[in-house]
Amino acid sequence: MKKPLVIITGASSGFGAEMAKQFNADNYPLLLLGRRVEKINALPLNFDQVLVKAVDVTNLEQFQAAVAEGEKAFGKADLLINNAGVMLLGNVWKQDASEWQTMMDTNVIGVLNGMKTVMQSMMDRHHGTIINISSIAGRKTFGNHAAYAASKFGVHALSETVREELSSHNVRVLVMAPGAAETELLTHVTDQDAADTYESWKASMGGVTLDPIYVAKTVKYMYELPQEVSIREVLIAATSQDA
Ligand code: NDP
Repeated sequence: MKKPLVIITGASSGFGAEMAKQFNADNYPLLLLGRRVEKINALPLNFDQVLVKAVDVTNLEQFQAAVAEGEKAFGKADLLINNAGVMLLGNVWKQDASEWQTMMDTNVIGVLNGMKTVMQSMMDRHHGTIINISSIAGRKTFGNHAAYAASKFGVHALSETVREELSSHNVRVLVMAPGAAETELLTHVTDQDAADTYESWKASMGGVTLDPIYVAKTVKYMYELPQEVSIREVLIAATSQDA
């Protein structure tokens, strides 16, 4: 049977790239979004049913145009994974305000943009799933994470609100909140002390973090359960993660 369209934001690295591989291996048509399309195009995928589009998730018009193209090619989207995100660690008294803005724009507005783009059609069809990638830092606080945690607590709050609103439309809104994993996320931190503190914390847990493949497999499992089953929220971390 022909599978429905899956949209993944931030597919150029980390969790997004791993989710693209998992869904691609199972023959889902994919719309893969990110700013660095050359990295998406270099992924080890079968590109027969893959459309790659350069989208900055903070730009609603770009997002909508890409989804319209994807849906023209593969039919209506049944799953949107709002995965794109940035983590810029630092103390509020030292951090440049532009870093807070980048996190709020990407991690919160980007998710809202994605939801707005696909929601009405899912509501009309009484079918569809939105999975927002948050973080354990969206459930509990960590030093150096003030603005990042604020953005990820925001993802939980907006997801739960919309989940309640869309429940009567048979549309699922789910949250995946991972712990520390080895991706490019930390490479964007500009505060060296904050980056070093994070690395020391990981080293204190034996240096073993969560393999992104388990996040990808869990997201796919959440999606593939029957539409009437909603795993509202998953917190997943390496067993050795202490916080
Ligand atoms: P990566 O840095 O490896 O990936 C982040 C992805 O987001 C990239 O593909 C990047 O693509 C994309 N992205 C960033 N900004 C934008 C933007 N404005 N528009 C479009 N795409 C954007 O990190 P992860 O894979 O770790 O991060 C994925 C998600 O997982 C994030 O939401 C992150 O907060 C969350 N997370 C990560 C954890 C970890 O320890 N790694 C733990 C908990 C949550 P490009 O630059 O090409 O646009």
